[in-house]
Formats: sequence, structure tokens, C-alpha cells
Amino acid sequence: MKLSEHYEISKKSIRLLFSLSREYTVCLILRAVITAALPYVPIAFSAQLVDALYERKPVELLAFYVLLTVGIVFLLKLLDTYLSARMSVSQDAMYRNEEWRYSEKAMQMAYESIEDRDVEILCARTRKESQSGYNLWNLYNGLENTIRNAIKIILSVSLALSLFFLDSVSVLMRLVLAGGILLTILCRIITVGKAEAINNKFFEVYVDLNVMGGKYYDYLEDYNSGKDIRIYDMADGLIDFIKNTLFTVGESEKRKDIKIACIKLVDTAVYHLLQFGIYMMLLAAVSAGRISVGLIARYVSSVLLLLSAVSGLVSDIQKTFVNHKYLKRYFSYFDISNHMYQGSLTVEKRDDNEYDIEFRNVSFRYPRTEAYALRHVNLKFKAGEKLAIVGKNGSGKTTFIKLMCRLYDPTEGEILLNGINIKKYDYGEYMSIFSVVFQDFRLFSFSLGQNVAADSEYDAQCVRRCLIQAGLEERLGSMPAGTETFLYRNFDKDGIEISGGEAQKIALARALYKNAPFIILDEPTSALDPAAEYEVYSSFNHIAGDKTAIYISHRLASCRFCDKIAVFDGGQIVQTGSHHELISQEAGKYYELWHAQAQYYT
Ligand code: ADP
Repeated sequence: MKLSEHYEISKKSIRLLFSLSREYTVCLILRAVITAALPYVPIAFSAQLVDALYERKPVELLAFYVLLTVGIVFLLKLLDTYLSARMSVSQDAMYRNEEWRYSEKAMQMAYESIEDRDVEILCARTRKESQSGYNLWNLYNGLENTIRNAIKIILSVSLALSLFFLDSVSVLMRLVLAGGILLTILCRIITVGKAEAINNKFFEVYVDLNVMGGKYYDYLEDYNSGKDIRIYDMADGLIDFIKNTLFTVGESEKRKDIKIACIKLVDTAVYHLLQFGIYMMLLAAVSAGRISVGLIARYVSSVLLLLSAVSGLVSDIQKTFVNHKYLKRYFSYFDISNHMYQGSLTVEKRDDNEYDIEFRNVSFRYPRTEAYALRHVNLKFKAGEKLAIVGKNGSGKTTFIKLMCRLYDPTEGEILLNGINIKKYDYGEYMSIFSVVFQDFRLFSFSLGQNVAADSEYDAQCVRRCLIQAGLEERLGSMPAGTETFLYRNFDKDGIEISGGEAQKIALARALYKNAPFIILDEPTSALDPAAEYEVYSSFNHIAGDKTAIYISHRLASCRFCDKIAVFDGGQIVQTGSHHELISQEAGKYYELWHAQAQYYT
């Protein structure tokens, strides 16, 4: 990484720390300054004290020095304690804000990025790396230590500098001292560099294993996968995998720790050898009467503190540079842009629901794929129409809906709402006209009412009405707390388990509750038997009233009541018309599909 890149990441990181919690960051900086200054207070005054004792100065002066030292230390400690308390209070908000960044990012990202497997892995990696001590928390530690060591260096130099200019200190001694400090820096650069490289290599592998292990733990702990694990006797295999992973990680961590310990041993030996040399040199200077007894204490302490601060700063900078590699990845996740065109037009709110949608020569390829999922699709449907989309699996039905809801933009062609390209509308406004029940809809471990309203607050009467319309009246009557009943037991021990068919009815009720002018059902009834599906679709036709409804199903019988049926095949619309028109075209796809399925309905 180039120095300019390090600089940019540092700038961005500092801005991020302040945005997460200004209070925590300011307290952290102040604390770093105070804790750095603390050891220098006794050092600064000890020289005066010892020299005053040595020169038999009045006892009042001695008492004054002692009082000043103790008083300043006491005040600094008091301030330190206060700042620590403020930091613990603001720490929670900081953690929350960091967690919220991930949620906010997921919501702001284009759907295309959410579906992207590389983005999913990047997100999992940055989260795991944060847990391994890199990224953000390393940034806090790094900032605190760097400030502390920088202050220590300034204070040590200001206390020890006069040593280099004393006439009584020989040139040789000055050279040896300066050489010693340089040697420590050099030794630190090499040892920290090596230790970080080893750590880094370990974490590169460890994080991948950890991401994978996390998935396996989820399987074991998620009771939804419990059935498959038992039926297929997968428990031993899963546990063995986790044990092996933990063992492999543990073994390589042990080897890594031993290597790092050896490197640190060399570093410590050099550092202490140098410490010993400095002691000897200064003692020799004192015994030769070249430095006062008071000053010796000050020089020894400040030179030693200087050494530790310099070597500390060197390792802080190196660790920060290493952490930049992780932060680069972290920022690369948060910098994923939403390149969907953001329109600003408002969608006209019409009481008559007069909205029409037109696909004009639309073709679409999923990102990073060559094959077109949709090819030259032309279709127009008017307000209040009931449109069915039929076709075999993989023929492009869901993709058609995803484009209509602007989860993706067409690769070619355009989609118009009341004659205007849908990209030009404000995204939130545009989405507000659709209620969609996707094939892979999700219900959440919230109350039934909250699931239907998709909100924490809801109109209980309306929720009940929608559930009844969706065909869940009987089940609702048997629920212990009505619409307040929790779905699943993740958050409430009295939560209820629901069948696939019931889940689909709740999803239908959610679509009804939104009361949007367009209702789209993308095979949401696949868990129902054909007869029940037909019932849902025909009653839904009635419930949908004057709304525009689009039904997608590979079961043709469920859709025959629609005004218009579009038959998809290989990403293209090969036929459109009513059931009667299409069934009479014996050479058509619809005729073929209908007769292939007819045996199930007789
Ligand atoms: P249907 O709803 O008719 O079953 P889809 O619209 O889901 O069909 O899929 C149409 C084509 O697009 C299929 O070939 C499918 O494999 C492909 N496809 C669907 N989703 C994605 C995706 N996220 N990335 C790449 N290809 C996809």
C-alpha cells in the first residue's frame, strides 16, 4: 500500500471514529494525553526534590515540591477516572452506531448488491475481522497508543534534551546514547514487522475458517435445520467438522504464538541491554561528578521512557499500517455504491388507481452473466386488470417482477408507469404502489400483527380483516393472544409454529394490509395443494377488487380466471390472451402446458 493510501485511510478512519461517538473519541484522546503525562510529573519534580535535599534547602521548600507533585498527580488521576466513566457510558452508543452502520448499509444497497455472493462474503469477513481485533477496535487502540507515545516522546525529549548539551557529557557518550536509541528503533521495526506478518498470515486463514465455522454453528443452533440434521443423521459430521476446524485453528494459533514469543524475546533482550548500558553510563557520569544526583534520576527515567515510547510508537505505526489493510476492506464494503438511477418524480396518488405499466422492448441479463434472463419483452397492462404470468420454471417470470419493482434496471429497453420511465420516480414513492408476495417471502419472529403490518405499530382491526380475507380466520381463532401472538419461539417461549400454507396466507394478508394499487403474487401458494391454491387465487381475484393484480404460477388452472395471460418461455413472452383464446391455439405453448398439467386436475 502506498503512503498516500495510508494517509487517505487514516483520514477516513479518524472521521469515522468521530462520527460513531464524538464523546468517546474526545475522551479517548484526552485520556491518552493525561495517562502519558502522569509518570512525568514525579520525574520532573524529583530532580528538584533530591537536589534540594542534597543541598539541605529549607524543609518548607521540600514540602512544597512534594505537595505540588502529589497534587498534580491527584488531579490528573481524578480527570482520568472521570473520562473513563464517560467513556464507559458512551461506549454502548458507539457499539450500537457501529452495528447500525451495517444495517443501514444493507438497506441502502441496491438489491443487486444484496444478491451478490461476493458482497455477502465481504460483509461476513469485515464483521469477523472486527471480532479478531483488527479494523475498528484496533483503530481505537492504535489512536490511543499513538497519542500516548507521541506525548511521551515530546515530554521525555524535553526533560532529557539538556543531557546532550551538558559540557560535562562527552561527545562519545552523546554518540552512544543517540546510537542506542536508533538501535532500539531499528530492532523494534524488524521485530514488530515480523510478528505482524506472522499474525497477519494466521488471520488471513483463520477469518475464512471462522466465517465458514459460523455458518456451521448456525445450522446446529437454528432449530429450523434441526429436522434435516436428525433425519439425515448429519449431527456427527457437523460436530466433527467444527471440532476439526477448532483444532486446526488452535494448533496454528499455538505455533504462531510461539514464533511471536521468540521474536519478542529478542526485542526485550536488546531493549534491556540498552537500558543496562544507559544506567551504567549515567552512573559513571555521576561518580565522576559530572552530573548532579538530582538530575541523574530525571535523566535515567526520561531516557528510559523515551526508549519505550519510541519503540512503542514504531510498533503503533506498523500495526496501524497493517490494520489499514483490513480497514481498506472494511471501507470497500461501506463504499459499495448504489448505482441505480435515483429519480425524484413523485408518484401521483390516485383514488381511482388509474396506473398503467408498460414494458417496452425490455431485455435483461443478471450482473456477471452472459445469458439473457429476459429478451425483448413487450407488455402493457392497465389499471384494474388481472394479469397472469405463466411458464415453466426458469422462463423469466420472477425476473419480470423484479424489474417491474425496480430491484434491477433493464439492460435494454424501458419500463413505463403512466408513460414515464420508472427510473425517473423517487424509488420509495414508486415502491409504495406495489404489494408483492415473493416465492421466497420471509416472516419474522415478531407478533402476527407486526408481521402483517410490517411495522411495530398496527391497526388490529385491519390486521384481522386481512387475515380473514387471506383465509386464516379459523387458525386466528385458535391463537392464544390473537394478533399479539408471536410467530416462532426465537423471542417468545409462547410463540407458535406455523405450517407452510399458513405462512403463505400470512404473507398474503401482509400484501393486503399494505393496500397498494398493484398486488403481485409470485407463486406464493406453492405450499398449498392445487385445490387450495385455486381457492386462494379465485377469492383473491375478488379481494383485489379494482386493484391491478398480477399472478404468477406454473399451475395454469389457478390463473384461468384472469383477464389476460402472458405465457413466458425462455425469457420471452410467446403468447398473450385470455384462457379461452390461448387454449384454442393448439400449436401454442399454453395449449402444451395446459395439457401437460391437465392430468393433475381431472
Ligand atoms: P422463473 O420465475 O420463471 O422460475 P426466473 O426469473 O427466476 O424464472 O429465472 C430466469 C432465469 O434467470 C433463469 O435462467 C435463472 O437461472 C436466472 N436467474 C435468476 N436469478 C438469478 C440471479 N440472481 N443471478 C443470475 N441468474 C439468475
